[in-house]
Amino acid sequence: MTRSWAEPWKIKMVEPITMTTRDHRERTIVDAGYNTFLLRSEDVYIDLLTDSGTTAMSDRQWSAMLLGDESYAGATSFYKLVDAVHDVYGYEELIPTHQGRGAEHILSQLLIKPGDVVPGNMYFTTTRYHQEAAGGRFVDVIVDEAHDPESIFPFKGNIDLDKLRAVVEDVGSDRVPYVSFETNVNMAGGQPASMANIKDVHAYCRENGIPVMLDATRALENAYFIQQREKGYAGHSIAEIVREIADHSDGATVSSKKDNLVNIGGFLAVRDPDLAMKARAMLVAFEGLHTYGGMAGRDMEALAEGIREMVANDDHVRARVGQVEYLGHQLIDAGVPVIQPIGGHGVFLDAGRILDHLDQDEFPAQALAAAIYVDSGVRGMERGNVSAGRDPETGENRRPKLELVRLTIPRRVYTQSHMDVVSESVGEVFENRRSVQGLKFSYEPDSLRFFQARFSAV
Ligand SMILES: *Cc1c(COP(=O)(O)O)cnc(C)c1O
Repeated sequence: MTRSWAEPWKIKMVEPITMTTRDHRERTIVDAGYNTFLLRSEDVYIDLLTDSGTTAMSDRQWSAMLLGDESYAGATSFYKLVDAVHDVYGYEELIPTHQGRGAEHILSQLLIKPGDVVPGNMYFTTTRYHQEAAGGRFVDVIVDEAHDPESIFPFKGNIDLDKLRAVVEDVGSDRVPYVSFETNVNMAGGQPASMANIKDVHAYCRENGIPVMLDATRALENAYFIQQREKGYAGHSIAEIVREIADHSDGATVSSKKDNLVNIGGFLAVRDPDLAMKARAMLVAFEGLHTYGGMAGRDMEALAEGIREMVANDDHVRARVGQVEYLGHQLIDAGVPVIQPIGGHGVFLDAGRILDHLDQDEFPAQALAAAIYVDSGVRGMERGNVSAGRDPETGENRRPKLELVRLTIPRRVYTQSHMDVVSESVGEVFENRRSVQGLKFSYEPDSLRFFQARFSAV
């Protein structure tokens, strides 16, 4: 008999959440322009909008915050963070930023020249924004399986080396400032790269003099999948695997609001001291002095503790990903089309298939997220045609192959009973899917439009 497992923590403090009526939610979603980003959290029952900064910190992190050294320069909290990043990831040079995009901004501005090409394994919204803002062109070199919602390939986050080679040969290695390698690819549904692929990409880049810059935001979840799925890694600890991932890179940008278990923060970490010097020079202009960047001393304390805690044992990540898989398998059992394998940070509903009566330019994923909210007060988010934006050359919607609703699970916040409520609600909306109508823009921002766009029913 398989035995049940439960969360490896108990609850010390509670935060009440509101339970709303369907009537109320029908009004609030219209007021929010059918955009779940524009709902007030007080109108949400179970908030699966994002796992970014929504983590519950531990008692140790909260107590570490009281030790925050708020000195403007040279704070002890900064040096604790330097040590934690060095011990866990192995990078020598640390540039603290307010969150991941701060690090992406600095890295892109320093390394990308106008006309450069940046190959990466599927785009991430803010990452691509900064690469393009620096004059670069992002080229997707992820394996084809990543774009296929039906594929159950275990490493859909892998870079396709043939595609990478073709890009480098086409434009020349001097036009490729770095390879942007994301761990546990967010937009692909939280899908990992294998260690073998990380090693192969690194070896190829070395030969060609191209740095590998990780987006290591989700390296922990990637490490878990390597441990579970890749031959030879079952006996390795999560800490060892995270370190081995980072060992095959020249640096990383990290949003600490994810794996690192804090509500705000991030960093750029590199090995090259010259690059670090240049990054610090930019840091003072855009974020803050080099020993705090975009964070308070107390934030750096909580982050240093969070980085150590995430790899202190394997139980944390097993429960974190296990909860996501629990929800995913309930939905699969209910017949709801979801991206498989289930990813590390959320369950991705295949809105393109669920609402196949809608054209992609009627934004099925946006409409599905709104319908789930109306049904139960569960808030997810669109990851499809709205998020992908318009092609700058043609001005048309990008119409990505994946048209998804993301139900993202915050770390250490909800219990399995919350997951049961979610799966019942999604199952109900799925049963009545033909009644969900398409949407059209009533306000469309120029960049990163998904955050503030407004819609009305067509
Ligand atoms: C969240 C995220 C980012 C951006 O980080 P912010 O902290 O939100 O600025 C970059 N890459 C990935 C993979 C992310 O998940």
